[in-house]
Amino acid sequence: MVCGGFLFPIINTMNINTMKKTGIFLIIIIAILGIIVFFFPEALYSNAFGQKVLMKIEGEQVAEFYYKENQIGKDTIYMKGIIYANTLEDIKLVLKENPEITTMVMEYVPGSIDDEVNLLASQEIRKYKINTYIPENGMVASGGTDMFLAGKKRAVHPTAKLGVHSWSGGNQVALDFPRDHEEHEKYLSYYTEMNIPLDFYWYTLEAAPANDIHWMTTEEIEKYNVVTTNPYSQLLEIQKTLASDAFKGRATGNNKEAQNLITNYFNRIGLYKLTDNYSIPFTFIDEDTKKEREGINIVGYVKGKINPDKYIVIGAHYDHIGIINDTIYNGADDNASGTSALLFLANYFSKNKPKHSIVFAAFDAEELGLHGSKAFVDKPYIPLKDIKLNINFDMISRNPANEIYVVGTYPFPQFKSTIATVAKTSSLNVSYGHDNPNDKIKDYWMHSSDNAPFFEKGIPNITFSEEDHPGYHKATDDYDVTNHDFYIDVVKLINAFILSIDEEFPKSKS
Ligand SMILES: [Zn+2]
Repeated sequence: MVCGGFLFPIINTMNINTMKKTGIFLIIIIAILGIIVFFFPEALYSNAFGQKVLMKIEGEQVAEFYYKENQIGKDTIYMKGIIYANTLEDIKLVLKENPEITTMVMEYVPGSIDDEVNLLASQEIRKYKINTYIPENGMVASGGTDMFLAGKKRAVHPTAKLGVHSWSGGNQVALDFPRDHEEHEKYLSYYTEMNIPLDFYWYTLEAAPANDIHWMTTEEIEKYNVVTTNPYSQLLEIQKTLASDAFKGRATGNNKEAQNLITNYFNRIGLYKLTDNYSIPFTFIDEDTKKEREGINIVGYVKGKINPDKYIVIGAHYDHIGIINDTIYNGADDNASGTSALLFLANYFSKNKPKHSIVFAAFDAEELGLHGSKAFVDKPYIPLKDIKLNINFDMISRNPANEIYVVGTYPFPQFKSTIATVAKTSSLNVSYGHDNPNDKIKDYWMHSSDNAPFFEKGIPNITFSEEDHPGYHKATDDYDVTNHDFYIDVVKLINAFILSIDEEFPKSKS
């Protein structure tokens, strides 16, 4: 109104001739602008919309926050895309209008194009005490990693990737500035506020240059407090994932999801391979159909630093019985527990190098007749005589009485004193047995699990397992009813046992 009222009297005082001239002049101006925009379209972006930088990142989406289908109003919000100018306003709005949100799952956040906004938006996340999580196969890097650190509690799925690198501005890179230079200040004060050790910042500058990325190792993630979870929560997390419905009960021939999880994990922690691949296919005759079938063992190893040609083979079957009459048998205890323990220990020994080589073998087709472990000893890729011990885990997470059986010290008594010594430091009820064929009370387990093929080849073996429970081979073998503390204690016991055996290998008395 103000503008129109001002123009009106001017037009009134113009004569017709002046109006014609002005019209022609305006048409020429519009034509010139049209030509400029046609040939130089970026002229439109340069000062107005703040989207010019976006055009430089081909195919990248700007950050969006959203609920998953059927989860509107729930406590988890999801995030995907590059952090940019609007992210601060977006995040403020999302958190203000949805007070029920406690967790932000960062699925794919490859960076930020506005660090100023990023740090402010991240402070907002911390202000609302939101937890951050990077899910299975998730990827968060660079400025995304800074935002992840704003989570009050922070966790990273073992298959997810978390990337860090240095920064650059103009022709200078971060490392050109002395440590006390003010250029570092905004990052350092941000990490201080987020309670991240300042070493983390200097480490990111060295990890990779600004135009490259370094994917953090599990060890680095733990070292710099990047996650707030302890290592045993990762043990539980993987067990829970393997025993989720998405893994369809892991029946041989229908357990690709479990295979991918295990191979990705081996790959991520950098295990050596016995063949070209971690996956080692084998065939066997199905006892029901008498037809040939295929199974896939997944095997990797850590090289011993003193006796690399002597092996401890750690085995656990990852298969279960799958879907029966439309019901998924998740097999959380049998044997997602053993499989997750296998991965946990593989990770541990890849960081804490043993004296002897340790092979980690996730066996398939155990439930169909121990076929994976049979295939392994029939075609071992390492001389059987160099396998000094096989350790097997099968069902180690469910026993309300806190009782774990160590099976195999009757035929292989040389291991008894080592296990008894480490058992003293544990709150578990460590029992022995199920390994004497003359025992009339306890059934004989030396032929019941993946230890059997090793036993039959004369290779010493120790199995950790609990007594059968009501959920055994039932659809009720679920993660929710396992005993987490018991399970963690069993894994600690096994870890201590392996460390002790590796330190000084007991001599056979026979
Ligand atoms: Zn089993």
